[in-house]
Amino acid sequence: MSMWIRTIALSIITIWLVGCSSAAQRQLAQDAVTAMGGAEKLMGIQSLIMSGGTGTRTKVGQAKTATGMDQVGQLSNVVETLDFGDARAAFDYDLKVGDFVQHRHEVLTKYPAGAAGKPIGIESIENVTFATTPSGLFSWGTQNSPEWLLKRNAVSIALAASDSASTADAAQDKELDGRMMKYGKGKTHDGEDMGLYFDPETKLLAGFEVLDTETMLGDVDALYILSDYKDVSGVKIPHHIKIRKGGEDFSEVQFASIVANDPKAADVFAIPDLLKQQAETAAKEPDAFPMQLVKVANGVYQARAFRHHSMVVEFPTFVAVVEAPYLDTQTRMLAKAIAAQFPDKPIKYAAVTHFHYDHIGGVRAMAAQGATILVAKDQEPALRKVLEAKHTHPPDDLAKAGDKAGKIETFEGMKEIKEGGQTLQLHTFTGSPHVEPMVMAYVPNGRVLFQSDLWFPMVGAPASPEVVQLMESIQKANLKVDTMVGGHGLVGPYAEMTKAVAALKK
Ligand SMILES: [Zn+2]
Repeated sequence: MSMWIRTIALSIITIWLVGCSSAAQRQLAQDAVTAMGGAEKLMGIQSLIMSGGTGTRTKVGQAKTATGMDQVGQLSNVVETLDFGDARAAFDYDLKVGDFVQHRHEVLTKYPAGAAGKPIGIESIENVTFATTPSGLFSWGTQNSPEWLLKRNAVSIALAASDSASTADAAQDKELDGRMMKYGKGKTHDGEDMGLYFDPETKLLAGFEVLDTETMLGDVDALYILSDYKDVSGVKIPHHIKIRKGGEDFSEVQFASIVANDPKAADVFAIPDLLKQQAETAAKEPDAFPMQLVKVANGVYQARAFRHHSMVVEFPTFVAVVEAPYLDTQTRMLAKAIAAQFPDKPIKYAAVTHFHYDHIGGVRAMAAQGATILVAKDQEPALRKVLEAKHTHPPDDLAKAGDKAGKIETFEGMKEIKEGGQTLQLHTFTGSPHVEPMVMAYVPNGRVLFQSDLWFPMVGAPASPEVVQLMESIQKANLKVDTMVGGHGLVGPYAEMTKAVAALKK
């Protein structure tokens, strides 16, 4: 090659490189869609079944102490199904957190099926299933609700980016997970701002960042890192999805296989016959969730929901609730049940037994009802984090409540609420293998004791070290108990528990 040809060639390469690094963001987004197989093919994807997933889910809210490290959940047999055509999505997975193992199945579907259908949720755990409003779905999957799959998947985001990224602004260089990427900005199909990372080598969408309003964490900057793109019916789909929220790991799953447009995808969205009636209600009501007040003693009720229950104590001019579990939807159903049974009696207090997310998921809605949230001093940091989190996108009940919202009130040792002839005592105790500290609630009228996660009344549960420690704590507090009310399980005699403990010690 002669000198001047080489010079020209180098100049062309230089111009090409400069041109490349200053490519408009829109061009990069369109290149990403092309690299995935083209807009037409991507828009032709009606459904995806992503299966054989294994990975982790953090932020399960199962820390041992209020300021301690959370546990990490292990996900396996993960199947995520997306139906773009009908805006339906489903999670099916096994979760392991420490010794706790559970198979969960959470579905966002429509009732009735088809374009005219209204969104509803179906949740199944160990053969128990119910239909709810979509906000009643609780998840420990890769996200807090299958709804997020529709909003945050690579196909929708790539298509939205190619429609919205700037045609004038040049891309910047920005690091993603240790690699330098091309970075631009765009909007989701719902109009949310997002940051976009493009792989300069493969041209594929390597990741995106967007504001997520999490059930428990509130507003967090979320980063989705997409990798292991593999061919799926002529398009390239990422098989590895890592999600970071608020600068910390949230979930990471490697899928073994993904198929597109498999007619079997529809099967997971079918509504079983036994749920038809619940589904109909869920499609009609603003909130639909199992809820029943079961009388335990005079003025004492177990508020029985799906698997997480509360205790309601009636006073002459108000009611107190012990535990606001699961989600805000359950709390709203509880508030409705209380208003129906005790008209004119506000929920003045809502007590917390411990700060595990599945037991405080409805606490924000309780504060929104105006209830003072009663918390043991050593549990306060965990509760403040949840109650003081910003929820803007969309705002939840508490974000909308303004000055009417109830505040946190802390106590040490024992807290007593008394009015007329009714008393509710909250006893803090330490040394439980489950969490530190724990609170049990005692109503002297009727000699009723409520606790969560330690003893499961009337379901045939065996005793465990947690139960032994609970019994010792009851004795230490000198409480005379006849009836046990479970945050899980039903209502049963105290003797059921002492027998189980005696059997364990044999
Ligand atoms: Zn717990």
